Amino acid sequence: MDARLEAIRDTVLARNPGEGEFHQAVTEVFESLGPVHDRHPEFLEGAVLERLCEPERQIIFRVPWVDDAGRFQINRGFRVEFNSALGPFKGGLRFHPTVNLGIVKFLGFEQIFKNALTGMPIGGGKGGSDFDPRGRSDAEIMRFCQSFMTELYRHIGEYTDVPAGDIGVGGREIGYLFGQYKRITNRYESGVLTGKGISWGGSLVRPEATGYGTVIFAEEMLKTRGLSLDGQRVVVSGSGNVAINAIAKAQTLGASVVACSDSSGYIVDEAGIDVALLRQIKEVERGRLKEYAARRSAVTYVDGGSVWDLDATVALPCATQNELDGDAAARLVRNGLLAVGEGANMPSTRDAVAVFQEAGILFGPGKAANAGGVATSALEMQQNASRDSWSFAHTEERLTEIMVGIHDRCAATADEYGDPGNYVLGANIGGFVKVADAMLAQGLI
Ligand code: GLU
Repeated sequence: MDARLEAIRDTVLARNPGEGEFHQAVTEVFESLGPVHDRHPEFLEGAVLERLCEPERQIIFRVPWVDDAGRFQINRGFRVEFNSALGPFKGGLRFHPTVNLGIVKFLGFEQIFKNALTGMPIGGGKGGSDFDPRGRSDAEIMRFCQSFMTELYRHIGEYTDVPAGDIGVGGREIGYLFGQYKRITNRYESGVLTGKGISWGGSLVRPEATGYGTVIFAEEMLKTRGLSLDGQRVVVSGSGNVAINAIAKAQTLGASVVACSDSSGYIVDEAGIDVALLRQIKEVERGRLKEYAARRSAVTYVDGGSVWDLDATVALPCATQNELDGDAAARLVRNGLLAVGEGANMPSTRDAVAVFQEAGILFGPGKAANAGGVATSALEMQQNASRDSWSFAHTEERLTEIMVGIHDRCAATADEYGDPGNYVLGANIGGFVKVADAMLAQGLI
């Protein structure tokens, strides 16, 4: 890493102790930015990096709620409003027991660059809670969401901060959150949240967008080598919203998707995953992947273990951060891997990324490859602002255009900085320069 940047990075780490994922995300971005600072000394003079690593505002709050047995429960809520140089803070809410300030900051930091890459007018933010939705009834989820919004409402707004979903937060949760916001504020402010239901201000394609976008990005990377997804053997991790829609899109492009996972284990279905059955189990019944094997013949369910033990030509990590390490990366590379598209945020460890890059694997980092979700959130905001709703075909066409645009900008930036095919460099520099220019233009804020 460039020595000038290393000094700034060390200060950031010392000021934010114990936040390992945030340190990782910051380090990974700083490693790409040396050459940009050679060309743009004004970024150093303007303390852009120091400002960028310090969130504009961080909110931590108590979330008290009552479970079905009448017991009082206390969780912790977070919203980190990281950077609003390009637009209102924008990013999801994650409900998962692993959520803490460091996780929210890593996600919020990544979101700044991701959102810049989309070309849409959105800043970066993230939030969530250490609440564990697993095994909770609808009524408990509703009471939790209502309590969460009872604090959050005062910090958000269509021109201020626009939350959406992430792990553990989907259409059901956004509905309860929106209802409570409306009740407290007495405003039908559609643009305050995205990922809404289609009959009350949501956008078609938003549920599919992250997974579809990841696959479109992977296809664009493959095209640069005269390849395509058609006929590839694809392994996906996760079985939530991103994973399911990535599987569906990869299949429409002719890929054979043979495996996916949940936190208990993974399935191998050599005939190709039955997306309708997967949706029924995961989205309708909110069940476990084990059920899939029980209901379909010739499927292997592996309890525990890692889906990255399987061979694939294309890997789509769509579960969570740091799920694919250096050893797994090396094994995949040995066994014929061509491309990786990150549907999750920072699913590959720094070791894994190094292995992929050394081997010349096409590697699409999350902040570029999974930007289709937030980009379609921005399309939802656009529809809300004009009180319009677009067709599926039109919205999907916009998503495709945006993903191809992100791919091409990352590739062009990597070329410009002398490292063709390095999408990590292209994404980090491409996102950073846009935000840095806007920050300098807006003065010392
Ligand atoms: N949580 C998603 C992400 O990681 C989507 C955020 C949004 O739609 O605002 O980008």
